[in-house]
Amino acid sequence: MDLNLKDKVFLVSGGAKGIGAAISSSIAEEGGIPVMIDPSENEAANLLDEFEKKDQKAFQYPQRLTEPEHAKEAISYVIKNCGKIDGIVNNAGANDGIGLEKGNPLDFRKSVVNNLGHYYDLVHFALPYLKKSKGSIVNISSKTALTGQGNTSGYTAAKGAQLSLTREWAVELLPYGIRVNAVIPAEVMTPLYRKWLDSFEDPKAQLQKITSRIPLDRRMTSAEEIANTVVFLLSEKSAHTTGQWIFVDGGYTHLDRAIGNF
Ligand code: NAP
Repeated sequence: MDLNLKDKVFLVSGGAKGIGAAISSSIAEEGGIPVMIDPSENEAANLLDEFEKKDQKAFQYPQRLTEPEHAKEAISYVIKNCGKIDGIVNNAGANDGIGLEKGNPLDFRKSVVNNLGHYYDLVHFALPYLKKSKGSIVNISSKTALTGQGNTSGYTAAKGAQLSLTREWAVELLPYGIRVNAVIPAEVMTPLYRKWLDSFEDPKAQLQKITSRIPLDRRMTSAEEIANTVVFLLSEKSAHTTGQWIFVDGGYTHLDRAIGNF
């Protein structure tokens, strides 16, 4: 299936590592031009090398998005270098463990803003260009928005809000033909996930416990499997899909209780 992404320009926040890197690679494989907004210099340089070897176009904007100005400047950079924006993948985030009992109100606020603010900022500043291209927006949320995780109030609040904004923006942007969808991963091995896993006393046993509960194949979802769904949602092949939350998780979020002790 040709997704017809050739020469289309897509911003991927956090696009140089983990799930974001897989999304950038999938966009480039499809002939699109990923713009990775990510401060990770080494990882981005390696990816840019790989893309160049395959004659694929890509850019990195090396910025951690913490202030609205950063998103505004990122959009200006993309317009200056590429002249248009065909879609945005809001992906950057960190499960920073700001809990209710162990956290505090200031850190909670910081965590919500760090995980949520730039999702709004990028779309806000890119809107004039998305209107021209009838672009597609994909928000990467997390199963923790639906299931909770414990000890991570800021992150889950932001992840839940991203799902609400997916519905809200899908409604507001209907008149412009801009589609907005969310992809919800559960367990994907990335640098962020590795760090979380290593916080357990026995990471290997913890990983085994988790994978044994994933209904389909009892394995982690690969970052490429998340990316495959994202590029489909960015493409015109999903032209009548908007406002949706798509779970790419081997049935982890929904099927476990239906199956019981499988
Ligand atoms: P990751 O391995 O940490 O990769 C994220 C990349 O984004 C890193 O390069 C990171 O740079 C960068 N980044 C973080 N905050 C940023 C910001 N404000 N502006 C620009 N770049 C930023 O994370 P991941 O596991 O791939 O997660 C990606 C997304 O998937 C997140 O939204 C996460 O909530 C979601 N998710 C992941 C899983 C999973 O199992 N991995 C499950 C559910 C949801 P630094 O490393 O320098 O911070």
